[in-house]
Amino acid sequence: MTSADDVLAELAALRAGDLPTHGGRTLAYVYDSAVPGLDDLAARAHALASSVNGLDPTAFPSLLRLENDVVATAARLLGGTSETVGTVTSGGTESCLLAVLAARDARSVESPSIVLPETAHAAFHKAAHYFGVRVVAVPVDPKTFRADPAAVIAAIDDTTVLVVVSAPSYAHGVVDPVPPIAAACLERGVRCHVDACIGGWVLPFAPDAPPFDFSVPGVTSISVDLHKYAYCPKGTSVLLHANADLRRPQYFAGAAWPGYTMLNSTTQSTRSGGPVAAAWAVLRHIGDDGYRTLALTALESTRVIREGIESIDGLRVLGEPDSTLVAFASEDVDVFVVADEMRARNWYVQPQFAHRSSPANLHLTVTAANAGAEAGFLADLRASVDAARAAEPVDVPAEVVAFVEALDPDALTPQEFAGLLAAAGLGGGAVLPERMATVNTLLAAARPPLRERLLVEFLGMLYS
Ligand SMILES: *Cc1c(COP(=O)(O)O)cnc(C)c1O
Repeated sequence: MTSADDVLAELAALRAGDLPTHGGRTLAYVYDSAVPGLDDLAARAHALASSVNGLDPTAFPSLLRLENDVVATAARLLGGTSETVGTVTSGGTESCLLAVLAARDARSVESPSIVLPETAHAAFHKAAHYFGVRVVAVPVDPKTFRADPAAVIAAIDDTTVLVVVSAPSYAHGVVDPVPPIAAACLERGVRCHVDACIGGWVLPFAPDAPPFDFSVPGVTSISVDLHKYAYCPKGTSVLLHANADLRRPQYFAGAAWPGYTMLNSTTQSTRSGGPVAAAWAVLRHIGDDGYRTLALTALESTRVIREGIESIDGLRVLGEPDSTLVAFASEDVDVFVVADEMRARNWYVQPQFAHRSSPANLHLTVTAANAGAEAGFLADLRASVDAARAAEPVDVPAEVVAFVEALDPDALTPQEFAGLLAAAGLGGGAVLPERMATVNTLLAAARPPLRERLLVEFLGMLYS
């Protein structure tokens, strides 16, 4: 056997190659509360319950209790009533998947559809893909990036099983106008899901957040991720339904085999007690007052960063962010080069490709850990913009861009994809080029279906 110490040392050495998950330098993917001792508490709670199986809550009543506590906390925060019920899931995507599944199976519709503002999270496209539901995508207001209520309402028809709004959207951090859309859903008898995966643990504490929760008539379900702004370890989200009837079609029972009757509330069957125990412990430890402080801290840091960005020549914040996310674009520097320059200064900011009215931009997820360090971030951002302005333009010949734009993903062989990836600088397996601007420029030229196929091929190269 290899000694435990050696194994852990090996793991630590592998982890050293990752982006930092703490300290506020990685402005996507990770959420740092900077609360001392929180990681340790979560790890110990996780260890206490990781061998317990949520598959059978009657065998392991501790998990039943933990899940009901967590759901009750989320429901209380989000305007729930005594009727509100919920489920702890593995993450935001699973919460969104289950909201769509429950909506699809609640009605018998020949060709069911969901109405999505174009800014809705890709998780809903995944749900549509998995569950055979059509997406009806509705353009958003090109200036504010908020859903256009009239356009969303006009898109509802007899096949609509669910309308989705975001609080806020991931890409731009703006909250959709929930009340008029939810009211129309109520009138038409259509479910209305509020995707508060990223805002649901911040907006309830924000002094002037737009209305978005169960207090808005017509809202039938809400997703909120604990592994985002509740600062719990990865692997927990909550899907709330306004009542138990709405939730019922989300459940699965399978008695047509000789084993135990499979009875599941989520897509998983065996479910580790670790994530829910860790989340329960973190929620208990931080409490409402702690979350209010953390939310206000992150919101204030976002304000400082946003105003700093607006004061940098050449940068423009997209829309008016309502929460802790900021997206900014530029008309005179290449934002993909700015991202590389920030990376060279040990910051990770997330490139977002242009889509419909949204130009190419950089996304920031601001957390409590950014508080107090805004000036350093902004100074490096200013320097990165200057460096991007001084740099040669990204060297991708116009004819290559034109070639990529014209490619039809359905007509390409796996070998041709491999060639394209190599040409884009993604041919080296797991080794990414140090600077990604060229790759991003080529990917940006590819229309979404081609970009999807290219990146699927890339994923296949990464994983053995
Ligand atoms: C993060 C996010 C999701 C998906 O959540 P995962 O936990 O990454 O699966 C869905 N919707 C919104 C608005 C999000 O921010």
